[in-house]
Amino acid sequence: MTSIGLNLHTVRERIQTACARAQRPAEEVTLLAVSKTFGPDAVRQAHGAGQRAFGENYIQEAVEKMALLADLPLEWHCIGPIQSNKTRLVAQHFDWAHTVDRLKIAQRLSEQRPPDRPPLSICLQVNIDGGPSKSGVAPEEVEDLAREVAQLPGLRLRGLMTIPEPAEDFEAQRAVHERAAALFHRLRDAGLELDTLSMGMSADLEAAVAAGSTMVRVGTAIFGGRPKKD
Ligand SMILES: *Cc1c(COP(=O)(O)O)cnc(C)c1O
Repeated sequence: MTSIGLNLHTVRERIQTACARAQRPAEEVTLLAVSKTFGPDAVRQAHGAGQRAFGENYIQEAVEKMALLADLPLEWHCIGPIQSNKTRLVAQHFDWAHTVDRLKIAQRLSEQRPPDRPPLSICLQVNIDGGPSKSGVAPEEVEDLAREVAQLPGLRLRGLMTIPEPAEDFEAQRAVHERAAALFHRLRDAGLELDTLSMGMSADLEAAVAAGSTMVRVGTAIFGGRPKKD
């Protein structure tokens, strides 16, 4: 097996262990392999080891990679910031967008989604720990945004996504993830049909799964370290 294959195996075991501890079925948590900055060969290796869903931050880079991998049945998730001038590429090429945090971006994605493609799955990015310079909708504004996005044709609202500040210890990580989970459940109780809570990365996936994550986004633990850029 390649090292990417071995790493994937280790990450799947981490997810299974975390699910077992939380008394959750392992099928409840989807692994998104974050392949940003890595080339098509790395994605091919991961696909060869059974991985299907890939996350990308840089839209132009992602679209070029997709063209080189068009022979594989992959699912592509946009997890990077989406500026207005990039919505068309996202609408045309991706299966999911996790980082929608304002109505204008959702409206553009809705208008630009090609009618022959299935609806684009959408997560609303929530600024769960309140960092002033961070992207993401404020928790108290999520419900209104969710109600508007849920009406837009060409989109399917799936849930929430968070990128909390890194925290060292498990309990601190879990406390933030639990705030996101509480918000997610509140929206569902309010009648929104959400099935996805996208949270947890290489360093905190156990805490995220303990809190109720349904999709962990893992880069470094699968593909190795990236040049320091983001
Ligand atoms: C890079 C990135 C990840 C993966 O982070 P790792 O620490 O490498 O696992 C997950 N989510 C987002 C939004 C990212 O930008």
